[in-house]
Amino acid sequence: MANFDYDLFTIGAGSGGVRASRVAAAHGARVAVAEEYRVGGTCVIRGCVPKKMLVYGAHFAEDLEDAKRFGWQIENPTFDWRILRDNVLADVDRLNGLYTQTLDNHGVRIIDQRAKVTGPNEVTLADGSRITAKYILVSVGARPMIPDCPGHELGITSNEAFHLDALPKRILIAGAGYIANEFAGIFNEFGSKVTLINRSDKLLRGYDETLTGRLLQISLAKGIQFRFNAAFRGIEKNLDGTLRVSMTNHDDMEVDCVMYAIGRVPNTEGLGLENVGIELGERGEIKVDEFNKSSVESIYAVGDVTDRVQLTPVAIREGQAFADTVFGGKPSKVSYDHVPSAVFSHPPLAGVGMTESEARNTLGSIKVYQSDFRPMKNVLAGRNERALYKMICEGESERIVGIHLLGPDAPEILQAAAVAVKAGLTKADFDATIAIHPTMAEELVLLR
Ligand code: NDP
Repeated sequence: MANFDYDLFTIGAGSGGVRASRVAAAHGARVAVAEEYRVGGTCVIRGCVPKKMLVYGAHFAEDLEDAKRFGWQIENPTFDWRILRDNVLADVDRLNGLYTQTLDNHGVRIIDQRAKVTGPNEVTLADGSRITAKYILVSVGARPMIPDCPGHELGITSNEAFHLDALPKRILIAGAGYIANEFAGIFNEFGSKVTLINRSDKLLRGYDETLTGRLLQISLAKGIQFRFNAAFRGIEKNLDGTLRVSMTNHDDMEVDCVMYAIGRVPNTEGLGLENVGIELGERGEIKVDEFNKSSVESIYAVGDVTDRVQLTPVAIREGQAFADTVFGGKPSKVSYDHVPSAVFSHPPLAGVGMTESEARNTLGSIKVYQSDFRPMKNVLAGRNERALYKMICEGESERIVGIHLLGPDAPEILQAAAVAVKAGLTKADFDATIAIHPTMAEELVLLR
């Protein structure tokens, strides 16, 4: 190893890259990491973390309204976007500092420049300097996809949403996946008029359809508008600065802001991967084996750039597995079975394992248990919004193959339930567990 400048050179200090670099260093490796933007990556800087803070901020709109029924009189509450925005961005700065400190504490050298791969064991920095390493880890993540239509440059992505000067009065969000539904909820609670358009008629493809149907119904009741089978044709700027959007199958729309949430593409362009002949997939993702190794022996990749499961905790597991395998003497693979996930919509939705239709197609004989209930808090608040829980079991054994929840705190509740599904527990195991009363989660052990 002594012939190289470093044992590991990581490109990209996001969730996967930071974990891999820190653990590799703890295993004794000499590590450098290049980051062209900010240490922390999408999740910390402009994704999960600031988004969740906006979700909390947004939910006050409902809480303040409901408060009256609980005896609290709060006259004319007003909302100041700039205060929330600046507080969120300040906390992002704090976290950015903590991530940087973690790398420093482990003796990882941080290079705040873009790096390109120029050989199987060499990277070249933006300033032209060349660095050699025994292993290179590419963990550069993904970026929002921009539609290929006239005027596309007039729209924003979730990256810019965190920095808006003012809330748009009318916003059109393209896409009906995670980001579209989460930001539709956020903007709607803040008082923007939100229209979500999608190329197909599917909301949150991959989630259980009974739940996504319910989310659609609740979102409509909250005032979010939807246009399905609507593909972008183009965007034009009017003289007054507003935007005119045309799409297939629907009339044109006038809005103040257009936001794209139509998926994220691996950031492999301009990285020099062609210099070393790394094999890429159809979406530009780096193809890796089960140990995160690319088609080049000395180059590995983890996280969104590999386009396996685009979730932070998965990238972190991959980074850990890479470091343990290559520097810890402990070959480790990530299990992609039963990865729980959640959408922080209003209300949130969370799921683990198979949906009802997947289970029917795969297993044939299944049993489905469902609870459709109005949470106690909503009853007292006079809020006519119901929660929906579903448990999908294999027919004979009643082994649980999926749990899907829609309602307040669904992601918090699902995390524990996901352990049970991962462990292969049965409906009988849930039935044998005494309820915690009164909670929403108790519905899971009282399903009939
Ligand atoms: P998603 O993959 O969730 O959804 C993409 C949406 O855009 C779908 O509605 C899809 O339509 C539509 N779409 C896809 N391609 C095109 C295209 N070429 N033109 C027009 N529409 C298109 O993507 P997001 O951008 O919302 O999020 C990206 C990823 O980030 C997610 O997959 C998720 O892994 C991660 N993420 C996770 C979060 C969480 O864990 N809470 C939060 C935010 C992001 P259709 O379904 O009809 O094909």
